[in-house]
Amino acid sequence: MAVSRHWAEYAWLAGDTPAKHVLLEHEGGRFTAVTPGVPAPANAVVLHGLTLPGLANAHSHAFHRALRGRTNGAGPAGGTFWTWREQMYAVAQRLDPDSYHQLATAVYAEMVQAGITCVGEFNYVHHAPGGRRYADPNAMSEALVAAAAAAGIRITLLDCCYLSSTVDGAALEGPQLRFGDADAADWAARVRGFRPNGGHALVGAAIHSVRGVPAAQLPEVVAASSGLPLHTHVSEQPAENEACLRHYGRTPVAVLAEAGALRPGATAIHATHLDDPDRATLGASGAAVCLCPTTERDLADGIGPARALADVGVPLCLGSDSQATIDLFVEGAAVEMHERLRTGRRANFAPGALLTAATAAGHAALGWPDAGRIAVGARADLVTVAMDTLRSAGADPAQLIFTATAADVTDVLVDGRAVVRDGRHEAMPDLPARLAAAIAAVASS
Ligand SMILES: [Zn+2]
Repeated sequence: MAVSRHWAEYAWLAGDTPAKHVLLEHEGGRFTAVTPGVPAPANAVVLHGLTLPGLANAHSHAFHRALRGRTNGAGPAGGTFWTWREQMYAVAQRLDPDSYHQLATAVYAEMVQAGITCVGEFNYVHHAPGGRRYADPNAMSEALVAAAAAAGIRITLLDCCYLSSTVDGAALEGPQLRFGDADAADWAARVRGFRPNGGHALVGAAIHSVRGVPAAQLPEVVAASSGLPLHTHVSEQPAENEACLRHYGRTPVAVLAEAGALRPGATAIHATHLDDPDRATLGASGAAVCLCPTTERDLADGIGPARALADVGVPLCLGSDSQATIDLFVEGAAVEMHERLRTGRRANFAPGALLTAATAAGHAALGWPDAGRIAVGARADLVTVAMDTLRSAGADPAQLIFTATAADVTDVLVDGRAVVRDGRHEAMPDLPARLAAAIAAVASS
């Protein structure tokens, strides 16, 4: 296999300051040499602007993209997370393996065009409406993995165990029926039978939340997910904490920790409403936290304790979750900006820490520890951000995460393959029309 060469005007290799004039050589999808401070050789593809490692979107529900810009009308009661959930369930009801494949292909292509080279798809839409199994009980997972291949993105399919509708263990009902398996053992047997096609895909596990899996079922999920990424929605809403305290006399973090669901390789999604012991438990557990700031503000969830979690050693990563926005520059900047609003202080996170959350930490949370860094031996993912657009012109390249947006991404390489060139997805130049058609097929009118 031949060595390919890219030469970056600026490349972020580590720390807070990008390196200048970096020659990036790769072969077979891996970096073989990284050399700063050299002129561009004649045989290299020149990347103008700032080149980053691949971004990882650690928390996605692809179908929520069909809700973007459709749930913001002023309702009679103003709306809450729980009224939004009704709208989300209405879309979930309309999905089948074909329509979900179409929608997810377009959504994942939008992600790659935003510089995302790996997505963690937290999937709970497993069965047909009403709960009937498809002939292939993993047909939805297959559709998502195939969509990722078509879009040119790596995927960790986090198969979500979802058994109950409330913390007290009430049965799933109505639109939730298609999310459920009979019990944790039934879920584990189904997930064991799923062998994704292609080197771009990994299988991981997920616990919907303390609402979705009763504590008595947690040990089975934890045992079945040994050695795999294990993700759980944690304390997104105060009502979840209140119900959990009423039923178990403990917080969601305490319930999950006792069952072994918080461990190295595990990720708590949101972790917005934590008390001091929760933060200490997370810090000691080795688990990561995935912040989804644009979703957390869109759904009126609250502001998570990002700095306090980082201070107790919790690795932070980022997710687009409800797809209100697919832009990890905006998510990363929002972590810092929300902290500023809450504390009245600036400079809580250095740009390098936010870029680590968007790259290496996200990939690690998804089970790809060899990605998210521009370094010899790592996967050859590159994301180039223009520094001459209306948003980025004149900015210090070291601070580009605070100014750039997904619209400034010009080139994306995934495992050594050019998927986006000159700001366009190579295989899907008609991406906006594709998205609109896929959304029209499943959205409410
Ligand atoms: Zn979520």
